[in-house]
Amino acid sequence: MALSGIQIYKLLPQTNCKDCGFPTCLAFAMKLAAKQVELSACPHVSEEAKAQLAESAAPPVRLITLKSNGHEIKVGNEVVLFRHEKTFYNKPGLFIRVRDDQPADAVKAAVAAVDAYTVGYVGMDLGLDGFAVESVSGDAATFAAAIGAVRTVSGRPLVLISKDAQVMAAGLGAVDGEQPLIYGADGDNWEAMADLAKQHKAPLAVIGSSLDELAELTEKIKGKGIEDMVLDPGGRDLSTSLVQATQIRRLSIKKNFRPLGYPIIAFPCDAGDPARESVLAAQAIAKYAGFVVLGDFSPEKVYPLLVLRENIYTDPQKPIQVQPGLYEINDPKPESPLLVTTNFSITYFSVANEVEATGIPTWLMVADAEGMSVLTAWAAGKFDAERIAKSVKTFNVEDKVSQKRIVLPGHVAVLSGELEEELPGWEVKVGPREAVDLPAFMKQVL
Ligand code: SF4
Repeated sequence: MALSGIQIYKLLPQTNCKDCGFPTCLAFAMKLAAKQVELSACPHVSEEAKAQLAESAAPPVRLITLKSNGHEIKVGNEVVLFRHEKTFYNKPGLFIRVRDDQPADAVKAAVAAVDAYTVGYVGMDLGLDGFAVESVSGDAATFAAAIGAVRTVSGRPLVLISKDAQVMAAGLGAVDGEQPLIYGADGDNWEAMADLAKQHKAPLAVIGSSLDELAELTEKIKGKGIEDMVLDPGGRDLSTSLVQATQIRRLSIKKNFRPLGYPIIAFPCDAGDPARESVLAAQAIAKYAGFVVLGDFSPEKVYPLLVLRENIYTDPQKPIQVQPGLYEINDPKPESPLLVTTNFSITYFSVANEVEATGIPTWLMVADAEGMSVLTAWAAGKFDAERIAKSVKTFNVEDKVSQKRIVLPGHVAVLSGELEEELPGWEVKVGPREAVDLPAFMKQVL
């Protein structure tokens, strides 16, 4: 049972030393009760109090790790219902399903394509996380052979799918020493599956037809010494899966209901239709899956899901940023034009891509606007004439360019007068508002 803020306060040193960053122990206790800080932020808690607070300090959604051949994926450890309340920490793993009734060459070709897939997005390389190998044959040797075929091509983490304990044992034998997800344990096989999970120190997916049944099963399995579990509440359509996932997250976060305090696995691959599968996968990423299993791989299906995942799992208080500095595009010369923008990644890449496409050698100065876009940064006082002028000096722009002319984004045309005062001897030009209009502007005006 979760402790209240007052109960936690009674276990703290009550010295109000402020070392945790809060003015009082009570303020810290309230934040701890709300799962908004870690107990480790207070360096003065006694070992005895730590033991008593462990339950309260533990994240309401257990952290689950899959490991294989130097790869690792962590899911869970979430503490809020909504991203804007704090942040989401561990991105859901995106897995591609392969079946053991496929010919080995087909398995290898499919796995190789996924393994090689990487796509750039605002300076990051995005890719998929692993494979869910399903026993369709029901034969232990065939299952192990399919896993072996995957392993000849990729070392990424695995979800092993079979409800037959003997088949699962053969599959686990094929990846001995790894930590795959075992899927799964239901009301009939849970004891045998729990034994396998214990023997291989692997997390176990628990399958229930209702939340009540799931909670009952996780408690029984926990009683056998298994702590690392993943939940499959059974819903496969949009409505049922959304309701179940939301109820599980609410119960674990708001009520600290430990029997359902585990990540969820979702199977959009069962949708039976590619469009429906994409929508189900997008919903699962947003609400609240830890593992998402897709039926097959195609770049057009996967890319939007990777981008969605990246955006949802970016800390809203720390926008994706690029390093401030003076960037060279198309091998600029001293006489090349100089543009300025902010260090919000999407802004930077929008501008840089448009400029690069023109083929015009250009200097692009990226000012430190704390990762905000042009208008937001200007409204927040993070992108003003003073900062731009300071960037010109910090990045030694005058040593690189021969024309003292700088192009401001059109959205901050209002800064041009002030910037001329901050940069005496410079000509300030106002560029277009949108990056897409830069090529025409550069060709006609610069
Ligand atoms: S660091 Fe610990 S003892 Fe000091 S104010 Fe914070 S909670 Fe209290």
